[in-house]
Amino acid sequence: MSELDNAKIGLEIHIQPLLVSKMFCHCSTEADKPNTSTCEICLGLPGSKPIINKKAIELTIKLGLALNCEIQKENYFSRKTYFYPDLSKNYQITQYEFPLCLNGHVRFKDKVIRIRRIHLEEDPASIQYPKSISDSEYCLIDYNRSGVALCEVVSEPDLTSAQEAREFLEYLISIIDYLDIYDSKKFTIRVDANVSLPGTKRVEIKNITGFKAVEKAIGFEILRQKGKLRRNEEFKQETMHYDSYSNKVIPLRDKEFEEDYGYIFDPDLPKIVVEEELIKKIKKTIPELPTEKIERLIQKYKINENIAGVLASEKEICDLFEESIKKIDKGIVINFIIITLKKVLNYNSLKLKESRLTFENFIELLKLIEKKELTIRMGDLLLRKLILSNKKTSELVKELGFTKVDNFDKIIEIVLSKNKKSIEDYKNGNSKALNFLIGQVLKEVKDKADAKLIEKNILEKIKK
Ligand SMILES: [Zn+2]
Repeated sequence: MSELDNAKIGLEIHIQPLLVSKMFCHCSTEADKPNTSTCEICLGLPGSKPIINKKAIELTIKLGLALNCEIQKENYFSRKTYFYPDLSKNYQITQYEFPLCLNGHVRFKDKVIRIRRIHLEEDPASIQYPKSISDSEYCLIDYNRSGVALCEVVSEPDLTSAQEAREFLEYLISIIDYLDIYDSKKFTIRVDANVSLPGTKRVEIKNITGFKAVEKAIGFEILRQKGKLRRNEEFKQETMHYDSYSNKVIPLRDKEFEEDYGYIFDPDLPKIVVEEELIKKIKKTIPELPTEKIERLIQKYKINENIAGVLASEKEICDLFEESIKKIDKGIVINFIIITLKKVLNYNSLKLKESRLTFENFIELLKLIEKKELTIRMGDLLLRKLILSNKKTSELVKELGFTKVDNFDKIIEIVLSKNKKSIEDYKNGNSKALNFLIGQVLKEVKDKADAKLIEKNILEKIKK
């Protein structure tokens, strides 16, 4: 238990569902230039009437079911009144009194994190500041985002440290990934976090973007509240902004209460009635989710929880694993996925489904490794090309000149004759000297030989 473990942290996570049009009008969710995808509805011009995007409702129900929520059979949209340039009609259409999903939960490690609600709302316009929010002399507003649908997932304050909050968020996003309800390529995670400690008041940090920033902002706020506690300062309920430039949270305004927004039911929009049939239909589209998948992988393939966790981190990676082991040795597949594939994808900031790697190319690559025609290192270099290219494995093998060097006796002799000092060092007990010699041979053969085999040959020659 770290000393931060007594914090109470709740998250509000905004997810933009995968839709071609906005929440209450036909404007496209795609636009190249600022302020080009707008109409009288999303700009709130007098006399315009909103219409509900049915797909947005369905995707939110899918999310709610995956997070074990009760889907509300009747729910409503409300107007949240506030005056700010990011909302040209001076109110945001959202769900307040009767949201679509209530009382869910997510099993996370050995805890259960409760989900208070999931509601649908429209996104305000985006405001860009050229510098930090307090130093900027002007800001730019883009109404293309105004009216785009957002699902807001609100958790109960069941998280207890900044690190746990970040890990939970990553886990939650991996569940959402499985559901195929958002565009992961365009997604930037936007989170509001509320944080309190025993003896302090709840502080809300608005608009944190990115996983690492969530951990940093919450960590900073916990330290700030501890400092105030030590100095015996008075606490008030506040709203803060996380400034990634300075890695600090800055007060925005005294916290207003939800009642201050003067919610009213939107008279332009009808009651939403969700039929049991629709819920049943959507339930059928939910795939096996990470927690169940991990348990199944451990049972079925006798692998440990860590490996199962990595394989289940993306649905597509797990599918690739389960298909590959029908054709290739399980050990080779696991090692290559866990070490090489994950590393190469992370380096390129890609998920498997966003990469160009096909199942056929992957199998062809693994077959070459299994037959020892490619070294793991060559497989690694080849994979880096495969995930970004439409070419076949065999084509790239030719292009890269990847024929394995088997006869490296001469090269070893030359390397050894040039590095007598390293041989002495090794004999005197410096094992790093051996790695250096292996490295020199690998450099000469351009990584086209097996490092273990080189080591064996070097040792034989040194002993003579
Ligand atoms: Zn519009």
